[in-house]
Amino acid sequence: MRTVIIGSGLAGLAAAYRLAEKGEVIIIEKEPEPGGMASSYSIGSPHLGSYHIEKYYHHIFAGDKEIITLTEELGLGARLEWIRGTTGYYFNGKVYPMNTPSEILRALPLLDVVRLAWLVLKAKAIKDRTPYDNIAAKKWIIDTAGESVYRNFFEPLLQSKFGDNKELVSAAWLLGRVQIRSNRGAKGERLGYMRGGFHALVEAMADSIRQRGGKIISGTVSKIDIIDGAARGVVVNGEHIPCDRVISTAAPHMLEKIVDTGLPGYDMDIRYQGTACALFGLIDRIMDDTYWLNIKADVPFGAVIEHTNFIPQPDYGEHLVYVTSYFQSPDSVLWRAGDEEVIEMYQKGMEKLFPGFRRKVKWWRLRRDMDTAPVYEVGYGKKVLPYETNIKGLYLAGMFSEANYPERSMNGSIMAGFKCADAIIKAEESR
Ligand SMILES: Cc1cc2nc3c(=O)[nH]c(=O)nc-3n(C[C@H](O)[C@H](O)[C@H](O)COP(=O)(O)OP(=O)(O)OC[C@H]3O[C@@H](n4cnc5c(N)ncnc54)[C@H](O)[C@@H]3O)c2cc1C
Repeated sequence: MRTVIIGSGLAGLAAAYRLAEKGEVIIIEKEPEPGGMASSYSIGSPHLGSYHIEKYYHHIFAGDKEIITLTEELGLGARLEWIRGTTGYYFNGKVYPMNTPSEILRALPLLDVVRLAWLVLKAKAIKDRTPYDNIAAKKWIIDTAGESVYRNFFEPLLQSKFGDNKELVSAAWLLGRVQIRSNRGAKGERLGYMRGGFHALVEAMADSIRQRGGKIISGTVSKIDIIDGAARGVVVNGEHIPCDRVISTAAPHMLEKIVDTGLPGYDMDIRYQGTACALFGLIDRIMDDTYWLNIKADVPFGAVIEHTNFIPQPDYGEHLVYVTSYFQSPDSVLWRAGDEEVIEMYQKGMEKLFPGFRRKVKWWRLRRDMDTAPVYEVGYGKKVLPYETNIKGLYLAGMFSEANYPERSMNGSIMAGFKCADAIIKAEESR
């Protein structure tokens, strides 16, 4: 039995990891290296030779059970560390730390803090988020805690995460997010990171798949062959690869284009947003202690993430800062402009917030992708795609799966890959 998996992101790798002993597995990846959104740069360093750093900033949460268990299974458990991830909020020309209740009290009016605390308590008490899929987050926040809490606290967060789509986002997404993020205690939240980078996890998964006979090959799948109602092969760079089943981890609107018959019965029109994320190597730090800074200012990015205020600078021999923005359409200047132009826009913005920034820059990298996160808009819950489709032999796992709702994550994609593989194993066993 041969399984072809489209995509070597964490969903594809997780599915292959679980299926490698059950038959032949071939992963096909259009990018030069595995990992998808969780892939890394290899940066040359005079002190260290080279090191790996994620193209997009990544950390995990204490509740991310699948990735923690998998890390241990692969012998990488000792590298996973739980570190205080300090957050801040830039507004009115100043960085406000936002880690502890007392810091939040300093940044927001007292009445807003009381209302915010009430909203968090209410959100944490909600067990079934389903009914909130039909309500806009904005409406729920204003109804629960008032206009001022929305404007002062949530609107900038929603703006930095969803841009012009912020008013479309559902309360179910917000509740899921509050439930994950409100677990912070008096000293602030601890976040998980793999020392040396999540690259080690991607590599260990890929190695384990290869050692058990699986293949990861380079190419773009341009077509899934449906013969007599069943997925029977794929076309890669013009070559037909026959198989018994296909797992797609590609964004639904991309998948729809490559399935012969379309996918009747499913809503493939899931809106995604893109990301333009710059990584700067610096000679010096830009903030005292803040790791994650959300921004309310007239600059073309929504967050600045000083990675070396999270993971110690000696791991890299230099300071590392991400400057990032989501964008909502291919017409965005962040997608259309050349790399240098985007970097120039970002550096100009950084100069406004942190005068002298340019002088600290040693090098930069820019990563941009169109399909980096589904927009969890009102009604999204009904669009979540199943692991097993109504086309025989066609399976799905990825950011659009139930395991990634209401927030996509590395953990969610690993869980989606595992669940998809389990569905295949179950279907085989019942034949
Ligand atoms: C800016 C940013 C920050 C993030 N931060 C965090 C974080 O802090 N913590 C966290 O847990 N998660 C974070 N995530 C989310 C996490 O990275 C993703 O949810 C997860 O990696 C997605 O894995 P996936 O396999 O589902 O999808 P992807 O990683 O998108 O993998 C899909 C793969 O399929 C390939 N592909 C698509 N079409 C084809 C084709 N036709 N032929 C061949 N190959 C194809 C793609 O190249 C890609 O490699 C972040 C993501 C981004 C973008």
